[in-house]
Amino acid sequence: MNVLIINCGSSSLKFQLIDSKTESVLAKGLCERIGIDGQFTYAPANGIKETSQKPMPTHDEAIQYVLASLTDKKNGVIESLEEIDAVGHRVVHGGEYFSKATLITDEVMEAIDKCSDLAPLHNPANLIGIRACQKAMPNVPMSAVFDTAFHQTMPPKAYLYAIPYKYYEKYKIRKYGFHGTSHSYVSQRLAEYMQRPADKTKTIVCHLGNGASVTAIENGRSVATSMGFTPLAGLAMGTRCGSIDVAIVEYLANKENLDLEGVLDILNKESGVLGLSDGLSSDFRDLFEASKAGNKKAEQAIEAFCYNVARYVGQYVAVMNGVDSIVFTAGIGENVPGVRSRVCAYLEYLGINLNITENRRRGEECLISTPDSKVKVWVIPTNEELAIARETVALL
Ligand code: AMP
Repeated sequence: MNVLIINCGSSSLKFQLIDSKTESVLAKGLCERIGIDGQFTYAPANGIKETSQKPMPTHDEAIQYVLASLTDKKNGVIESLEEIDAVGHRVVHGGEYFSKATLITDEVMEAIDKCSDLAPLHNPANLIGIRACQKAMPNVPMSAVFDTAFHQTMPPKAYLYAIPYKYYEKYKIRKYGFHGTSHSYVSQRLAEYMQRPADKTKTIVCHLGNGASVTAIENGRSVATSMGFTPLAGLAMGTRCGSIDVAIVEYLANKENLDLEGVLDILNKESGVLGLSDGLSSDFRDLFEASKAGNKKAEQAIEAFCYNVARYVGQYVAVMNGVDSIVFTAGIGENVPGVRSRVCAYLEYLGINLNITENRRRGEECLISTPDSKVKVWVIPTNEELAIARETVALL
């Protein structure tokens, strides 16, 4: 079965065509600057990656380019659209409506729309992508796979904020958590790897990318996660501040003569390790290079990031009353041994012993703790597209 995975942003659309039997990627690509001028990148598995300028006033045109490329006589990977059996859409917010992936119906679209209030930048874009695909492929079944769904198993003590309860009832203000597809995929992959049923495990997954979150997964279910009502909460990230004292918002607004939007812009786009390094970079490659060259702010940013990850891991050990495995994933988690070793240095009290040689490996599945380490530490590359393809196939 061929499953087309679609991940829509407000002005972008990422796609992958996956053969679900072999779980191989047949082709992938990206439409950027939709509604501006339009740039299209297409990479067939056995061909050459090409980028070209294409007019894309809306997501409808973007989808047309995707489908035309996939079926192109020269660079295409399928003969006709008949060979696309299903489409899986990444949807950011499922609110309290969705605790798992679902086939898309009119009612489902309505519920996704109702969650737009909670994710105003993402859900409307996801809906535009769904509608564009429905227009181009009216008879193909489609699924919605939600970033929030995996965390719907959190108990009230983990998801309620200590604000008047009526605001939870009236506005559904609560912790939702994000990166759920990644946390779920990685924890399942770990259970397979360990040949141990997921329902007998206590795992902490550290998804450390430009956006970053830590999740406590007990017996295969999310019981606590670091992101909150929005993806701004929790860890300090690439450019996001993570959890801070909310009173800073008013104070900063007054001092800098900014409105709320202006302050939130700073907290979303100029903070995190970018802010800590005094605007140097949000990318750990740059930060490590600068730190090696003696830049103290870069060093401080790296250390603060690792300290925060360790702090959340510590919290989640308490939440689960123990931990068997800690997993690192996403761009930083998979590729930066220096972050993993610094995080684990804070966790020696758990009996963690890192295997320094194994910890040098990047971007591959591996155990990086020593055989006598009381808690196992792993690197498991995430694969959200494959997870969406699997969920879609399961639904069909
Ligand atoms: P993601 O959001 O998961 O794509 O992660 C992106 C981030 O991962 C980048 O901003 C970098 O900080 C980090 N990253 C990715 N690859 C590497 C690498 N090879 N070395 C160091 N950092 C990396």
